[in-house]
Amino acid sequence: MAANKKLLMLPGDGIGPEVMHEVRRVIDWMARRRAVSFDIAEDLAGGASIEARGTPITDGVIEAAQKADAVLFGSVGGPQWDKLGFDMRPEIAILRLRKELGLFANLRPAVVFDPMVNASTLKPEVVRGLDIMIVRETVGGVYFGEPRGIETLSDGQQKGFNTDVYTTHEIERVGRVAFELARKRGNKLCSVEKANVMECGLLWRQVMTKLGAAEYPDVELSHMYADNCAMQLVRNPRQFDVIVTGNLFGDLLSDLASMLTGSLGMLPSATLGDVDAFGKRNALYEPIHGSAPDIAGKGIANPIAQILSFSMLLRYSFGLDEDADLIERACTNVLASGLRTADIMAPDCAKVGTHVMGEAVIRELDKQAA
Ligand code: NAD
Repeated sequence: MAANKKLLMLPGDGIGPEVMHEVRRVIDWMARRRAVSFDIAEDLAGGASIEARGTPITDGVIEAAQKADAVLFGSVGGPQWDKLGFDMRPEIAILRLRKELGLFANLRPAVVFDPMVNASTLKPEVVRGLDIMIVRETVGGVYFGEPRGIETLSDGQQKGFNTDVYTTHEIERVGRVAFELARKRGNKLCSVEKANVMECGLLWRQVMTKLGAAEYPDVELSHMYADNCAMQLVRNPRQFDVIVTGNLFGDLLSDLASMLTGSLGMLPSATLGDVDAFGKRNALYEPIHGSAPDIAGKGIANPIAQILSFSMLLRYSFGLDEDADLIERACTNVLASGLRTADIMAPDCAKVGTHVMGEAVIRELDKQAA
């Protein structure tokens, strides 16, 4: 029984609160049927916080997130806040959380559930059974490296420049997250960079090789150039188990991998920090989709990405693998039964809204636990 695990829920804006409501039902079910309970706090982030408190996220909420064992985030943003200055944008909430919780490793699974195999733009025989995990470093690399800027040259032209930079420590800490994950999965890790043309990539490859030999000799480590990896992900994605890469390549490759599954409303993610001296690891879980203002308030959003974000939370923050499996199986069975929200509607399926989809997951959980 996992009691007194502190969970902070930040539903955010748009469809965030709608899909989070369905997670609440899953949490209630777990307390009732699996004797797994949490100390839950819920608070404001994004546009909702701007409206109520004049800032995208308060220091108090950041502090609560630091104290929580895990944060379950919805999504933030909407057209009504698009004209605000950069510091006041709803998205600052998630940027601040990532920064102040030291969240450096973004985990994005790309899983093709069998009933959804036709949703991919790739052929079913290429994606059937796909289950890969992309680990992207998120606080370093070219998005943050110095020097950076736009300069005016003596001849009047302008020069834009950024610096890709990784230290041994930064590579090792994200590398360890990836190696540990590989051990819990298929024991295969592919490290991705451009060691052929970038010193930063060369160091990345050297550090990963050394780390693998010293601490994870049991994990099968391979290396791949990022351009080849993009090609291989489309050609034969099932060759991969876990992929680890830097910020820029991870940004591109994780989006590419997501789309192998063909559905934004189905994809969860996790962002993890370091383990502290007391064994606690900050972690935030969120769907990869945004606040979908175009469908907010209509009751038609797909809650599965948010529900699967919660199952990732159970797995990676609390080691509750059995419960996570249960939730994932329930979602697959609901899809297999032919229920679909509008975003994943397919021929011969029944179109349902957010609430009915959530209810179907609960019914399926009941069946599994019977
Ligand atoms: P989006 O992901 O919100 O929506 C893209 C499209 O997918 C829309 O047509 C939407 O209706 C659909 N969609 C997304 N999630 C869905 C779901 N669960 N069920 C059914 N359909 C779904 O991306 P966007 O339109 O580019 O951005 C909208 C807002 O969200 C913007 O303000 C953006 O900044 C913000 N955003 C926030 C986050 C975050 O909070 N982490 C991430 C991405 C975008």
